[in-house]
Amino acid sequence: MKLFDVYPINNIEIVKGQGSLVWDDKGQQYLDLYGGHAVISIGHTHPHYVERLTQQLGKLGFYSNSIKIPLQEELADKLGKVSGREDYQLFLCNSGAEANENALKLASFANGRKKVVAFTKAFHGRTSLAVSATDNPKIIAPVNQTENVVFLPHNDVDALKTLFAEQGNEICAVIIEGIQGVGGIQVASDEFLQSIRSLCTQYGAYFIADSVQCGYGRSGKFYASDFAGVDADIYTMAKGMGNGFPIGGISISPALKPWHGMLGTTFGGNHLACAAALAVLEVMEQEHLMDNAAKIGGYLIQELQKLNHIKEVRGKGLMIGIDLPEELNQVKKNLLFNHHIFTGEAKPNVIRLLPALNLTKEHADRFLEALSKELKA
Ligand code: PMP
Repeated sequence: MKLFDVYPINNIEIVKGQGSLVWDDKGQQYLDLYGGHAVISIGHTHPHYVERLTQQLGKLGFYSNSIKIPLQEELADKLGKVSGREDYQLFLCNSGAEANENALKLASFANGRKKVVAFTKAFHGRTSLAVSATDNPKIIAPVNQTENVVFLPHNDVDALKTLFAEQGNEICAVIIEGIQGVGGIQVASDEFLQSIRSLCTQYGAYFIADSVQCGYGRSGKFYASDFAGVDADIYTMAKGMGNGFPIGGISISPALKPWHGMLGTTFGGNHLACAAALAVLEVMEQEHLMDNAAKIGGYLIQELQKLNHIKEVRGKGLMIGIDLPEELNQVKKNLLFNHHIFTGEAKPNVIRLLPALNLTKEHADRFLEALSKELKA
């Protein structure tokens, strides 16, 4: 059978990783500032992570979800503490799209409504509801449910207020990334998030904070929307949650009451996935990784702002977008081929940095030096 090429890929074969470094099959070392799209949160092959997963695999890798799994309770307890939301309820699934799908379904069950508000450049995943709330017509099939989604301009408080004034009683939920990732690192303003919070409360709609990419400590706070000082009704998460082991989840406010059978999945919250997610939280706590994300991220943003030829630097913590003019669209490739640095991209010409949260200053400097050389060239 021939493999379907999901994404256009280059021919580098990565075979080994440690911290923020990876190596290819020929022994070439690379600095990984992409972390497989915000997935690597505590670095590659962190010893505590390897040990916890290996031990769990040696004991029990999987058993049915219909028996008690104390690791799930341990994870819920720890996640509640680290995220500062001990009264929320945790449902575990396998991916970001699945988390958003379940969040939207839960909101719709709860208030009996259908209309979902999403924003320009949003990305919420590729399943039916999640893709319908994603601003990319190219990946939407006729079977998806776009008729229920209203897209508003991002960060436009007036447009939001107008829509609620006209149709507020029909709105099921507002779904928003605290910082848009695929959309090119667009930070939702505090005022915007606060307006979403108060309008949702006023009209009985639910606020879903898609924290799949910007969550789990990446911004320097556990959820990026925490900067605005608001609580969402549902937080969705995945990516960095398992540091590469597939796991997703939704954190549900106590006001929402899912019933047995509404949410479910065969693999969600299996023993290995829970061990991975627990190891991530333990390392985050022990090594103060949210503080490091804020510190090194802040340093990077400050230094990037000093460089010439950059249109704009956006982001918070270790979720950073470097918006370059059109004529510099070679820079990302040059960083890889001339300096052996992996970065991400967003259209039209944004370099996305989504490194592990324990990125060192030395590695940040290696990137800054390489980028300033390329910008000068
Ligand atoms: N939400 C956001 C904000 C994302 O960035 C992504 C993935 N790029 C998803 C949801 C979907 O996650 P997954 O690929 O795990 O389904």
